[in-house]
Amino acid sequence: MAAIETECCVVGGGPAGMMAGYLFARAGVKTVVLEKHGDFLRDFRGDTVHPSTLEIMHELGLAEAFLKRPHQKAERLGGNFGEKHLRIADFTGIKAHYPFIALMPQWDFLDFLADAAKKLPSFSLRMNTEATDLIEEDGRIAGVRAAGPKGDIEIRAKLTIGADGRHSTVRDRSGLKVLDIGAPIDVFWFRVDRDPEQGEDVLFNAAAGRIVVTIDRGDYWQCTYVIAKDGAPKIRAAGLDAFRRSVIDAVPWLAPHIDQIASWDDVKLLTVTVDRLEKWSRPGLVMIGDSAHAMSPVGGVGINLAIQDAVACANLLSGPLAAGTLTDADLERVRERRLWPTRVVQFAQVQAHRLILTPLLKSGRRDPQPPLFIRVISALPWLQRRFASWVGLGVRPEHVHSPRAQKACL
Ligand SMILES: Cc1cc2nc3c(=O)[nH]c(=O)nc-3n(C[C@H](O)[C@H](O)[C@H](O)COP(=O)(O)OP(=O)(O)OC[C@H]3O[C@@H](n4cnc5c(N)ncnc54)[C@H](O)[C@@H]3O)c2cc1C
Repeated sequence: MAAIETECCVVGGGPAGMMAGYLFARAGVKTVVLEKHGDFLRDFRGDTVHPSTLEIMHELGLAEAFLKRPHQKAERLGGNFGEKHLRIADFTGIKAHYPFIALMPQWDFLDFLADAAKKLPSFSLRMNTEATDLIEEDGRIAGVRAAGPKGDIEIRAKLTIGADGRHSTVRDRSGLKVLDIGAPIDVFWFRVDRDPEQGEDVLFNAAAGRIVVTIDRGDYWQCTYVIAKDGAPKIRAAGLDAFRRSVIDAVPWLAPHIDQIASWDDVKLLTVTVDRLEKWSRPGLVMIGDSAHAMSPVGGVGINLAIQDAVACANLLSGPLAAGTLTDADLERVRERRLWPTRVVQFAQVQAHRLILTPLLKSGRRDPQPPLFIRVISALPWLQRRFASWVGLGVRPEHVHSPRAQKACL
């Protein structure tokens, strides 16, 4: 089997893995990122780049170039509850260099990070390379075995970072215990064309027991249709016409283009999971992003939490790794730093499942009563800004403190 040696091996080229790869390489650590797919072009990854991530890009000197890529700006978020429209969040007043959510397909974000990282001499990205197992020696993780385009390969590393998402192979092989918090929902994911005059600050639409989230992607709407857990077979059995009608029940203005959902192939089912690891590290290994804590799509904060993990991980570990002084206690500090924000966000997501989404799904009312929490926020503009700040910047925002030993030229 072919073998390579590196200082840091990152498994997974999602937001957590690409940002960690960039930061470790920037700090002069020889870093290899493995991504099992051949590109980043998958449509199920979420499109929200929050102010906290834009702040990180700013600190890295990447924000201006990044925002030249096509995106939409969401400065305010609102919800339609039948005929009632309520504003929920207002980002315009928050303390950030970029007080808005940038809506950008995640593959563009990952492509951008990959392009920037490839300019760092210590960085290497191996696409089409899937980690299949961990290399364990004397109770210590010493890298991974992977299946690559040219066959199997061993990547030996002083530090392995598991960033391979909700169905993480690394987590599975590591034996780290998972606390399953559970989620009462799944979602269907589809898109329909958007007319230029459609929609202002609308994101959440609830009516007649249906919930549809509509994300403006310029010439089309990326839509999430929320269903009760494991409810997909029943909905499919009722037929595509019934599905299209139920979408329009909640979002009548999607009607002109709803026929673009031509078959069930256009409607992807995504199962929602909320869980987290009890321990995030073992000697030689640390887990970040969804592989440490799978997030619900509620709030669209999973990408940003994953990025924050990567920044904290590089802040804590890249210096000692470069200096050859990294200890197992250093690895444990990543969890100590990131557990609290993870817990807070997961708690909020579970409450939103329980108190907002489940009652709305059960309510058959065409004009449902907005939940109390949303009515209170919509009545108080200062609370809309507070809420936006909380969603946009998070509860423990990270800043880049990892060393900059190498400079990427854009
Ligand atoms: C339906 C849905 C909608 C969502 N919408 C949003 C949203 O709008 N905004 C938001 O912020 N969050 C959203 N989230 C959450 C968000 O997608 C995740 O929290 C976020 O992507 C986590 O990033 P990550 O890098 O940890 O993992 P991932 O994004 O899952 O990336 C993991 C990467 O690892 C690769 N990989 C997996 N296994 C291996 C392996 N064995 N070897 C090599 N590579 C591997 C995968 O191909 C992938 O590229 C949504 C989640 C769901 C389920």
